[in-house]
Amino acid sequence: MTTEQLKQQRHRERQQRLKTQVDSAIAAATDDKGLLLVITGNGKGKSTSGFGTVARAVGHGFTAAVVQFIKGSWECGERNLLEEHGVQFAVMATGFTWDTQDKAADIDAAERVWLQAERFLADPSIDMVLLDELTYMLSYHYLSLERIEKALLNRPVKQHVVITGRACHRRLIELADTVSEVQNVKHAFDHGIKAQRGVDW
Ligand code: ATP
Ligand code: MG
Repeated sequence: MTTEQLKQQRHRERQQRLKTQVDSAIAAATDDKGLLLVITGNGKGKSTSGFGTVARAVGHGFTAAVVQFIKGSWECGERNLLEEHGVQFAVMATGFTWDTQDKAADIDAAERVWLQAERFLADPSIDMVLLDELTYMLSYHYLSLERIEKALLNRPVKQHVVITGRACHRRLIELADTVSEVQNVKHAFDHGIKAQRGVDW
Protein backbone atom coordinates (compact mmCIF):
# COMPACT_ATOMS: atom_id res chain seq x y z
CA MET A 1 0.00 0.00 0.00
CA THR A 2 1.38 3.46 -0.92
CA THR A 3 1.64 6.24 1.68
CA GLU A 4 -1.27 8.01 0.00
CA GLN A 5 -3.47 4.88 0.15
CA LEU A 6 -2.51 4.38 3.78
CA LYS A 7 -3.48 7.99 4.59
CA GLN A 8 -6.82 7.53 2.86
CA GLN A 9 -7.49 4.31 4.73
CA ARG A 10 -6.72 6.01 8.10
CA HIS A 11 -9.03 8.89 7.17
CA ARG A 12 -11.85 6.45 6.34
CA GLU A 13 -11.35 4.63 9.64
CA ARG A 14 -11.40 7.90 11.60
CA GLN A 15 -14.58 9.04 9.83
CA GLN A 16 -16.21 5.67 10.51
CA ARG A 17 -15.38 5.93 14.24
CA LEU A 18 -16.77 9.47 14.29
CA LYS A 19 -19.94 8.36 12.49
CA THR A 20 -20.48 5.56 15.01
CA GLN A 21 -20.13 8.04 17.88
CA VAL A 22 -22.49 10.58 16.29
CA ASP A 23 -25.04 7.90 15.38
CA SER A 24 -25.15 6.56 18.93
CA ALA A 25 -25.47 10.09 20.36
CA ILE A 26 -28.39 10.73 17.97
CA ALA A 27 -30.01 7.42 18.94
CA ALA A 28 -29.66 8.30 22.64
CA ALA A 29 -31.31 11.71 22.20
CA THR A 30 -34.95 10.73 22.21
CA ASP A 31 -36.61 13.45 24.31
CA ASP A 32 -39.03 15.93 22.76
CA LYS A 33 -39.65 19.15 24.63
CA GLY A 34 -40.02 22.87 24.30
CA LEU A 35 -36.54 24.35 24.52
CA LEU A 36 -35.27 27.48 26.17
CA LEU A 37 -32.46 29.00 24.14
CA VAL A 38 -30.27 31.88 25.25
CA ILE A 39 -28.07 33.80 22.81
CA THR A 40 -25.87 36.24 24.65
CA GLY A 41 -22.42 37.87 24.40
CA ASN A 42 -21.07 41.14 23.03
CA GLY A 43 -20.65 40.16 19.39
CA LYS A 44 -23.06 40.79 16.53
CA GLY A 45 -25.47 37.98 15.70
CA LYS A 46 -27.78 37.50 18.69
CA SER A 47 -31.02 38.96 17.36
CA THR A 48 -30.38 37.71 13.83
CA SER A 49 -29.95 34.22 15.27
CA GLY A 50 -33.19 34.59 17.25
CA PHE A 51 -35.07 35.75 14.17
CA GLY A 52 -33.43 33.01 12.10
CA THR A 53 -34.79 30.44 14.55
CA VAL A 54 -38.27 31.97 14.25
CA ALA A 55 -38.00 31.86 10.43
CA ARG A 56 -36.93 28.22 10.64
CA ALA A 57 -39.94 27.37 12.83
CA VAL A 58 -42.38 29.31 10.64
CA GLY A 59 -40.95 27.49 7.62
CA HIS A 60 -42.11 24.27 9.26
CA GLY A 61 -45.61 25.66 9.72
CA PHE A 62 -45.16 26.58 13.40
CA THR A 63 -46.81 29.63 14.94
CA ALA A 64 -44.56 32.23 16.53
CA ALA A 65 -44.61 35.51 18.44
CA VAL A 66 -41.86 38.07 18.90
CA VAL A 67 -41.48 40.49 21.79
CA GLN A 68 -38.94 43.24 21.27
CA PHE A 69 -37.62 44.86 24.42
CA ILE A 70 -35.62 48.06 23.87
CA LYS A 71 -36.44 48.56 20.25
CA GLY A 72 -35.41 51.78 18.60
CA SER A 73 -37.69 53.78 16.37
CA TRP A 74 -36.03 52.37 13.24
CA GLU A 75 -37.74 49.78 11.08
CA CYS A 76 -37.14 46.09 11.60
CA GLY A 77 -36.56 44.08 8.41
CA GLU A 78 -37.53 40.80 10.05
CA ARG A 79 -40.81 42.24 11.26
CA ASN A 80 -41.78 43.31 7.72
CA LEU A 81 -41.23 39.76 6.55
CA LEU A 82 -42.47 37.70 9.49
CA GLU A 83 -45.72 39.61 10.02
CA GLU A 84 -46.67 38.59 6.49
CA HIS A 85 -46.36 35.01 7.72
CA GLY A 86 -48.65 35.47 10.71
CA VAL A 87 -46.00 36.13 13.36
CA GLN A 88 -47.35 38.41 16.09
CA PHE A 89 -45.18 41.26 17.32
CA ALA A 90 -45.21 43.19 20.59
CA VAL A 91 -42.76 46.06 20.76
CA MET A 92 -41.47 48.19 23.61
CA ALA A 93 -41.06 51.26 21.45
CA THR A 94 -39.09 53.42 23.85
CA GLY A 95 -35.71 53.08 22.23
CA PHE A 96 -32.56 52.81 24.29
CA THR A 97 -32.56 54.08 27.82
CA TRP A 98 -29.77 56.54 27.09
CA ASP A 99 -32.09 58.10 24.50
CA THR A 100 -35.09 58.48 26.77
CA GLN A 101 -33.35 59.35 30.07
CA ASP A 102 -36.66 58.70 31.75
CA LYS A 103 -36.52 55.66 33.99
CA ALA A 104 -40.16 55.76 35.12
CA ALA A 105 -41.37 55.83 31.52
CA ASP A 106 -39.01 52.97 30.62
CA ILE A 107 -40.27 50.82 33.50
CA ASP A 108 -43.83 51.56 32.50
CA ALA A 109 -43.11 50.53 28.90
CA ALA A 110 -41.30 47.39 30.09
CA GLU A 111 -44.31 46.43 32.24
CA ARG A 112 -46.70 46.90 29.34
CA VAL A 113 -44.71 44.85 26.86
CA TRP A 114 -44.03 42.17 29.49
CA LEU A 115 -47.80 41.68 29.92
CA GLN A 116 -47.91 40.82 26.21
CA ALA A 117 -44.99 38.44 26.68
CA GLU A 118 -46.82 36.73 29.55
CA ARG A 119 -49.85 36.26 27.30
CA PHE A 120 -47.71 34.62 24.61
CA LEU A 121 -45.94 32.45 27.20
CA ALA A 122 -49.31 31.20 28.46
CA ASP A 123 -50.74 30.45 25.03
CA PRO A 124 -50.38 26.81 23.92
CA SER A 125 -51.32 27.77 20.35
CA ILE A 126 -47.97 29.62 20.02
CA ASP A 127 -45.13 27.21 19.26
CA MET A 128 -42.24 29.64 19.60
CA VAL A 129 -41.68 32.93 21.40
CA LEU A 130 -38.69 35.19 20.77
CA LEU A 131 -37.90 37.55 23.66
CA ASP A 132 -35.45 39.83 21.86
CA GLU A 133 -33.19 41.92 24.17
CA LEU A 134 -34.97 40.64 27.30
CA THR A 135 -31.66 40.47 29.22
CA TYR A 136 -31.54 44.27 29.64
CA MET A 137 -34.86 44.26 31.50
CA LEU A 138 -33.04 42.38 34.26
CA SER A 139 -29.76 44.29 34.11
CA TYR A 140 -31.63 47.60 34.44
CA HIS A 141 -34.01 46.14 37.08
CA TYR A 142 -37.03 47.05 34.96
CA LEU A 143 -38.61 43.61 35.49
CA SER A 144 -38.26 41.13 38.32
CA LEU A 145 -36.42 37.85 37.86
CA GLU A 146 -39.19 36.01 39.75
CA ARG A 147 -41.82 37.11 37.28
CA ILE A 148 -39.77 36.14 34.25
CA GLU A 149 -38.79 32.81 35.80
CA LYS A 150 -42.40 31.99 36.68
CA ALA A 151 -43.67 32.72 33.15
CA LEU A 152 -40.88 30.63 31.59
CA LEU A 153 -41.35 27.68 33.94
CA ASN A 154 -45.14 27.63 33.56
CA ARG A 155 -45.22 27.94 29.79
CA PRO A 156 -46.80 25.18 27.64
CA VAL A 157 -44.46 22.14 27.67
CA LYS A 158 -43.94 22.08 23.91
CA GLN A 159 -43.35 25.82 23.53
CA HIS A 160 -39.85 26.92 22.48
CA VAL A 161 -38.47 30.23 23.76
CA VAL A 162 -35.47 32.18 22.52
CA ILE A 163 -33.94 34.92 24.67
CA THR A 164 -31.35 37.33 23.28
CA GLY A 165 -29.27 40.16 24.70
CA ARG A 166 -25.90 40.90 26.26
CA ALA A 167 -24.87 39.90 29.79
CA CYS A 168 -27.67 37.39 30.38
CA HIS A 169 -28.62 36.86 34.02
CA ARG A 170 -27.00 33.74 35.53
CA ARG A 171 -30.38 32.30 36.54
CA LEU A 172 -31.71 32.40 32.96
CA ILE A 173 -28.53 30.66 31.79
CA GLU A 174 -29.16 27.95 34.40
CA LEU A 175 -32.77 27.56 33.28
CA ALA A 176 -31.88 27.36 29.58
CA ASP A 177 -31.39 24.13 27.63
CA THR A 178 -29.06 25.67 25.06
CA VAL A 179 -26.86 28.71 25.58
CA SER A 180 -24.56 30.36 23.05
CA GLU A 181 -22.24 33.27 23.60
CA VAL A 182 -21.46 35.38 20.54
CA GLN A 183 -17.98 36.82 20.87
CA ASN A 184 -17.00 40.13 19.28
CA VAL A 185 -13.92 39.77 17.11
CA LYS A 186 -14.41 43.03 15.21
CA HIS A 187 -17.31 45.21 14.09
CA ALA A 188 -17.66 47.69 11.24
CA PHE A 189 -19.04 50.29 13.68
CA ASP A 190 -15.60 50.54 15.33
CA HIS A 191 -14.27 51.77 11.97
CA GLY A 192 -16.81 54.56 11.62
CA ILE A 193 -19.34 52.68 9.52
CA LYS A 194 -22.93 53.33 10.50
CA ALA A 195 -25.56 50.62 11.00
CA GLN A 196 -26.46 49.27 7.58
CA ARG A 197 -30.04 48.61 6.49
CA GLY A 198 -30.59 44.94 5.74
CA VAL A 199 -27.52 43.92 7.74
CA ASP A 200 -27.87 45.64 11.12
CA TRP A 201 -31.64 46.28 11.15
P1 ATP B 1 -27.87 41.65 15.31
O1 ATP B 1 -29.23 42.27 15.48
O2 ATP B 1 -27.19 42.23 14.12
O3 ATP B 1 -27.88 40.16 15.35
P2 ATP B 1 -27.08 41.69 18.04
O4 ATP B 1 -28.48 41.39 18.38
O5 ATP B 1 -26.07 40.63 18.31
O6 ATP B 1 -26.98 42.13 16.52
P3 ATP B 1 -27.19 43.99 19.77
O7 ATP B 1 -26.32 44.04 20.96
O8 ATP B 1 -28.64 43.72 19.97
O9 ATP B 1 -26.53 42.97 18.75
O10 ATP B 1 -27.00 45.34 18.98
C1 ATP B 1 -27.83 45.71 17.94
C2 ATP B 1 -27.11 46.57 16.94
O11 ATP B 1 -25.78 46.87 17.34
C3 ATP B 1 -26.94 45.91 15.57
O12 ATP B 1 -27.10 46.91 14.61
C4 ATP B 1 -25.55 45.39 15.55
O13 ATP B 1 -24.94 45.36 14.27
C5 ATP B 1 -24.83 46.36 16.44
N1 ATP B 1 -23.76 45.65 17.17
C6 ATP B 1 -23.78 44.38 17.62
N2 ATP B 1 -22.61 44.05 18.20
C7 ATP B 1 -21.83 45.14 18.09
C8 ATP B 1 -20.47 45.45 18.47
N3 ATP B 1 -19.72 44.55 19.09
N4 ATP B 1 -20.01 46.70 18.19
C9 ATP B 1 -20.78 47.61 17.59
N5 ATP B 1 -22.05 47.39 17.20
C10 ATP B 1 -22.57 46.17 17.44
MG1 MG C 1 -29.95 42.29 19.41
